[in-house]
Amino acid sequence: MSNLQPPPHQHVTVVQQPPTPVFRDIPVNMVCQHCHHQITTAISFETGTLTWIICGVLILFGCWLGCCLIPFYVEGCKDCVHTCPNCHQVVGKFTRI
Ligand SMILES: [Zn+2]
Repeated sequence: MSNLQPPPHQHVTVVQQPPTPVFRDIPVNMVCQHCHHQITTAISFETGTLTWIICGVLILFGCWLGCCLIPFYVEGCKDCVHTCPNCHQVVGKFTRI
C-alpha cells in the first residue's frame, strides 16, 4: 500500500522579482525584462530637459552666439538611455531631473 502524501508547501508559490537596478550614466548589469538575458546595458545619451534648461540659461546670460549649443555636446547634460545589447529594447533611462 503506497502512501502518497503531497509535500506540505506545494501550492505556495514565491515569485521573486529581481531588484530593479538603479540607472545612472554608466552601464549596469541586470536581467533584461524583454529577453530575460543577463546583460550589461548599452548606454546612449539623448537630449533631455536639463539640456534645454542649460541652453536657456546660457541664452539669458548672453551666450547665444553658439555657446547655448554647448549642452547639446556635453554628455553630462543629457539623459542616459539604457538599451539591451541582446534584443535592443530600451530597458531603462536615467534622467537628470
Ligand atoms: Zn533584452
